[in-house]
Amino acid sequence: MLNILKNISLKPYNTFGVEVLAKKFADISSVEQFKQLIRQADLQTEEMLILGGGSNILFTNDFNGLVIKNSIGGISIIVETDAHVIISAGAGVMWDDLVNFCVNKNFGGIENLKLIPGTVGAAPIQNIGAYGAELVDVFESLTGMFIQNYEEKTFTKVECKFGYRSSIFKTDLKGKFFITELKLKLNKKPKVNLSYKALKDSVEEEGIANPTIKDISRHVKNIRESKLPNPSDIGNAGSFFKNAEVHRSKVEELIKVYPDLVFYKVDNETMKIPSGWLIDKCGLKGLRKGNTGTHDKQALVIVNRGGATGKEIFEVAMFVKEKVKNVFGIELIPEVNII
Ligand SMILES: Cc1cc2nc3c(=O)[nH]c(=O)nc-3n(C[C@H](O)[C@H](O)[C@H](O)COP(=O)(O)OP(=O)(O)OC[C@H]3O[C@@H](n4cnc5c(N)ncnc54)[C@H](O)[C@@H]3O)c2cc1C
Repeated sequence: MLNILKNISLKPYNTFGVEVLAKKFADISSVEQFKQLIRQADLQTEEMLILGGGSNILFTNDFNGLVIKNSIGGISIIVETDAHVIISAGAGVMWDDLVNFCVNKNFGGIENLKLIPGTVGAAPIQNIGAYGAELVDVFESLTGMFIQNYEEKTFTKVECKFGYRSSIFKTDLKGKFFITELKLKLNKKPKVNLSYKALKDSVEEEGIANPTIKDISRHVKNIRESKLPNPSDIGNAGSFFKNAEVHRSKVEELIKVYPDLVFYKVDNETMKIPSGWLIDKCGLKGLRKGNTGTHDKQALVIVNRGGATGKEIFEVAMFVKEKVKNVFGIELIPEVNII
């Protein structure tokens, strides 16, 4: 029988470093162990939470149910042609280990996603993205099971309904499906993706004529380390809010008042405004409220400076949201999963 721990602190399991208790806790390293676990009669009525690296989660309360820490491992090449490979990875593999595996073998497509914390299984949940790339670009399929009846299913790209920091697993199937395996299609003759300006500038500054995907992952790593606070130094979950998607008329209205407004075109009707810019303009960069607030260099990152509770962090996030709403009339949407 699998070891089920009781009243376990989740502090080591969330990058905010919030102290909460899980009523029950089990660490599983295979699908078989998951099935064994859920067959145990006393667990069938428990609320369940699948936990990866805890890097996109804010616990505002103790969890009165069963936390299943997913440690399903394994990376393998399952199809290989002259042009492509299909890689299968267990959902508990750390995302960055998968990136390193692929970059070392010169399989291109995820090098721009270097150093994103968390597990492979959580990557499709919000369609992780950074530096001009998103998971959807290389996604082949994923497999898992419905938590309610343990029915297995493989999802195609279309079925996942990927969007900007979103998928069906963050909307209709939120908390209802356990992703156990991810398959990605990568390029054996990779072309580097320099669509993101800061990355392009960084590579050009070094003066490399023909950058490889190894160069790209190295530059992404350097940029990220210089810009984003490391959760082992200061608790955080990366960007707390998604960037704001607004109608172009909103941009036309705001630019009259803020000529330095930063925005990007999504399509003819929709524009994206960096939420960090909005928060910064409200004077909230480096905000301090008790042990929480916003990061001194990156307003979009809400931080735990040590000892803050999940509720306090949530209150700060709502304070920031309210301020942005009052100043700009824009509703920020959290990217972090609030539990
Ligand atoms: C410093 C920092 C930088 C970051 N930068 C980026 C970035 O550039 N781009 C980006 O997109 N994100 C970024 N993030 C957010 C985060 O790393 C990603 O969202 C990551 O995919 C979360 O993985 P996780 O395993 O930690 O998920 P967790 O936080 O453990 O879980 C997140 C949610 O997914 C659910 N879940 C987890 N695993 C599974 C599974 N196998 N099946 C079903 N549900 C599951 C959980 O129940 C929870 O609701 C950053 C976070 C930090 C701390």
